[in-house]
Amino acid sequence: MSSVSTKQSQCLSLIRERGRASRGELAQALGLDKKTVSGLVEQLAAQSLVEGAGFRESQAGRRQELLAVRGSHSCFLGIDLGATHILGILADLNATVLDRIYFEIRPGLPADLILSQLRSIARSLLASGKAAAPVKGVGIGVPGFVNPQKGISLVAENIPGWKDVRLREILEDELGVPVEVDDCSRACGRAERWLGVGKKERDFLLLDLGYGIGMALFIRGELYAGSGYKSGEIGHTVVKLDGPPCSCGKRGCLETVASGKGIARAAAAGIREGHSAVLAGLTHGNAEAVTAQDVSVAASMGDGFAAGLLGEAGGYIGVALANAVNLLNPALVVIGGGLAAAGDLLLDGLREQLSRYTMMGIAEDLRLELSGLGTEASALGCALLAMERVFSP
Ligand SMILES: [Zn+2]
Repeated sequence: MSSVSTKQSQCLSLIRERGRASRGELAQALGLDKKTVSGLVEQLAAQSLVEGAGFRESQAGRRQELLAVRGSHSCFLGIDLGATHILGILADLNATVLDRIYFEIRPGLPADLILSQLRSIARSLLASGKAAAPVKGVGIGVPGFVNPQKGISLVAENIPGWKDVRLREILEDELGVPVEVDDCSRACGRAERWLGVGKKERDFLLLDLGYGIGMALFIRGELYAGSGYKSGEIGHTVVKLDGPPCSCGKRGCLETVASGKGIARAAAAGIREGHSAVLAGLTHGNAEAVTAQDVSVAASMGDGFAAGLLGEAGGYIGVALANAVNLLNPALVVIGGGLAAAGDLLLDGLREQLSRYTMMGIAEDLRLELSGLGTEASALGCALLAMERVFSP
């Protein structure tokens, strides 16, 4: 779709990264002379990819025109498929969200119905009439293993029956626009890199705490997917030898004791054993229906059992994270995903164990920050995935 050259692409990406930039700033950052940069900007403007975005006084008192990516150049869909929800958004080239559709996946919903709901959300967003420009691509984030080259969602352990779903083929046939598929945690990582707290970092980790637990790894500014696109499975690193059985077939994985699913399982056992009247009340005595969000609510109401579950989960996450930090020496760890909303009830335990197990000399320079992108992070990252072909030559 895009016909940008490598130099134009570098220029466009830099404008996107900075939000607004003058020709002089671009020339300095790219190591090019001003005349060359002016030529590149002219070519990008001719393709309607950049536009003027006000002026700034230079130090020498000269008025400099600022440039920004032209949001209305094109629109994209981002669809985040999780174990408990589908969130679809329509966004312009500046990642401004123009429309959204949310669908809650009830436990036990068959995989074929989930797929038909996903297709229906994509069709509705495409036809919503809120797009400021033609929709040029769709990005889909899925849990579990994925083959991004072929656009196939291989397996999602947390969605029973979901296997070898040829999402690209199905949706390209239906929608008539290019479809990209990737891991949902890597989608969150993209959102942090371009829009969130990872903006200026080349080496950072995004920890995606939700129904499952995933990670996106940025190494030297590049998203590291692994040799078979299966990187980031921190949820299946072992934190409790011979611990509870995991959906992956092993035992004691981080997900079994610290994910939304693991916390809900421990809470259900606690309700059955009479440890929490608050949780029993919140779930009307139906222990199996309890969610990690209920545990958060109960803990914030002062329920000691629920607070203990979150504290313990945070501790296990801290241990796993310390191992990842010792291995990769990132400058920043971003904590994202729905479970991050539990706040200090979870994060106090996380910070404590992270600092206990991260090596001296590595810990001092590590920053830990909460994602500011909220529950839309993954869907936004999916839209950014679809946009990559505009920003790359
Ligand atoms: Zn596992």
